[in-house]
Amino acid sequence: MDLGIKGKRALVCASSKGLGLGCARALAEAGVDLVMNARGADALDTAAAQIRQDYGVSVTAVAADITTEAGRAAVLEAAGSVDILVTNAGGPPPGMWQDWDRDDFIRALDANMLTPIALMKALLPGMMERGWGRVVNITSQSVKAPIATLGLSNSARAGLTGYVAGTARQLAGKGVTINNLLPGIHDTDRAKALDGAAAKAQGVTPAEARTAREASIPAGRYGTAEEFGAACAFLCSTRAGFIIGQNLLLDGGAVNLTL
Ligand code: NAP
Repeated sequence: MDLGIKGKRALVCASSKGLGLGCARALAEAGVDLVMNARGADALDTAAAQIRQDYGVSVTAVAADITTEAGRAAVLEAAGSVDILVTNAGGPPPGMWQDWDRDDFIRALDANMLTPIALMKALLPGMMERGWGRVVNITSQSVKAPIATLGLSNSARAGLTGYVAGTARQLAGKGVTINNLLPGIHDTDRAKALDGAAAKAQGVTPAEARTAREASIPAGRYGTAEEFGAACAFLCSTRAGFIIGQNLLLDGGAVNLTL
């Protein structure tokens, strides 16, 4: 299927590895020029070079912390006007409800709610002016079904989801769509870190923790960044213009819901 976005320009945040990289690669495969971002310059430059080589698109790499005001300013300056925005950042650390104080919540809200909102506020006016735009926010399955050890994520991502639900409908008439992708467990460094934490808490090996988590997923496996990226590229395509303010679960069936 031709996604109809060849020659468009996308900012994909937190994209040197994992799900962000999956999105960047799928957009590049569709012919989209990229601005990529992560904190660590080495992995970012390697990922950008590989994408240029594989897909022949232009890639600008900006090493910066997207959750800080200075980092966002650097990324936005390099990006200029973009047609597509994919927001992403690292997830908050695990713990239990009684562990977190105000500062922990502020950090989580900054990273996983207020950063994507700030990026949308900066880039949506240009998209509206040009009459076309796509925003995809990477959130989590925890928006649909809370994960006990990820209360900071449950809270911050629910806030972003509420903002998107209201905002997406105000922009729909301008040719701009905003949707959220909700990853279940995908085979990335983040999943490995969570397996490690679960193993420690349960007194098992990381491999045993992974096997137990795989058994809890009807598909019987973790998702891949490639599968995730393909869904992102479709939501960013010209084909998806009637999909507004939705929350698409990519979880191998793990969240037991009818709707
Ligand atoms: P990952 O494999 O750990 O990759 C994270 C990427 O984001 C890396 O490129 C990292 O590079 C970059 N990054 C992290 N913090 C950043 C920051 N402050 N500024 C700029 N770049 C930053 O993680 P992932 O699995 O792809 O997860 C992506 C998001 O999806 C996270 O919010 C995670 O909580 C959520 N999620 C993941 C899963 C899963 O199973 N994988 C499930 C549900 C939700 P640097 O470290 O160099 O900055």
